[in-house]
Amino acid sequence: MAKADRQAMTTLSFNPPVRTLMGPGPSDVHPRILGALSRPTIGHLDPAFVGMMEETKALLQYAFQTRNELTMPVSAPGSAGMETCFVNLVEPGEKVIVCQNGVFGGRMKENVERCGATPIMVEDAWGRAVDPQKVEDALKANPDARVVAFVHAETSTGAQSDAETLVQIAHRHDCLTIVDAVTSLGGTPVKVDEWEIDAIYSGTQKCLSCTPGISPVSFNEQAQEKIRNRDHKVQSWFLDLNLVMGYWGSSQQRTYHHTAPVNALYGLHEALVMLQEEGVENAWARHRKNHVALKAGLEAMGLSFIVPESERLPQLNAVSIPEGIDDATVRRRLLDEFNLEIGAGLGALAGKVWRIGLMGHSSRAENILLCIAALETVLGDMGAPIQTGVALAAAEKSLQS
Ligand SMILES: *Cc1c(COP(=O)(O)O)cnc(C)c1O
Repeated sequence: MAKADRQAMTTLSFNPPVRTLMGPGPSDVHPRILGALSRPTIGHLDPAFVGMMEETKALLQYAFQTRNELTMPVSAPGSAGMETCFVNLVEPGEKVIVCQNGVFGGRMKENVERCGATPIMVEDAWGRAVDPQKVEDALKANPDARVVAFVHAETSTGAQSDAETLVQIAHRHDCLTIVDAVTSLGGTPVKVDEWEIDAIYSGTQKCLSCTPGISPVSFNEQAQEKIRNRDHKVQSWFLDLNLVMGYWGSSQQRTYHHTAPVNALYGLHEALVMLQEEGVENAWARHRKNHVALKAGLEAMGLSFIVPESERLPQLNAVSIPEGIDDATVRRRLLDEFNLEIGAGLGALAGKVWRIGLMGHSSRAENILLCIAALETVLGDMGAPIQTGVALAAAEKSLQS
């Protein structure tokens, strides 16, 4: 190729804009975590790396509030954590109770079907918690069900379900439980041992505020026993925990399974160190306090939440879009004029709601004030029926209380 041609097609380095991320994830990544990502890459079997893996497992146990030995990060995003739980715990021909009150329950159904099993759907309205009575009824009608799966924090709607109660019901009917804690971990109480959750998965890019692409999972003894005694091979080679544990299991004898995402794991380690420094209970309290302040501002402006107060997630605020206001235009202006990202509605809620995330490092006062000021400016400019001049003061008052 001639030099002139090569110069004409030269692509420059990619330099992303600096945004404030207040959508459903990824959330703002703390500079300490970005710093950790750029440390020197070492071998994934290097003794120094193996030491960091052991620390990461212990830190994840703290985040999940568990002593489960099988607690580790899957080398792929939250969806792969979901798939890890289903392919390992569900065998062909089984029945699985799947609760659906938003987008992610629908993905659980897909997973069950692809495992060759039959999903029994328990449906609740989008924007509401899973109704424990319906789960009880489904289990009575299907005494041969083996697993109950539900989403703890439904990111598509902002609703939180009562994980402890749902697990108790499942256990009374001899079922194992699979819990989606992608959006709850680090943002709202998740107590794996106290609630006796059997299998749980999460993601790094929501309330842990790390970069996307890793999925922490944890399995208790009962879940591990089912995995060890399967009749059929796990259909996924990559996600088969019997094989993955050869690498993540014991620090004495670590063998190659796949090349771990070395630098991404530095990032997760740093994020978990920061969670430990803050204290997980303090992180939950921060998410709640900041939610209350955002709510004070948005409600003063005249916006309303779609989830009843007692079922609301503090880290994911779904509010109705005012009549006559075009969703995409508002989000585009927030991005262009304020470098602010908020989330669109998903599935049945597309075009009807905005999802404002206050997850992890994004859950802080300056983000709340920016979001309220920016929304008020754009909505006021577009002639939306909102109250102006009161929202910031309402949020500030709440932050100071
Ligand atoms: C984000 C999310 C997922 C999927 O995680 P990815 O990292 O995007 O694959 C699954 N479940 C819930 C509840 C989520 O919010």
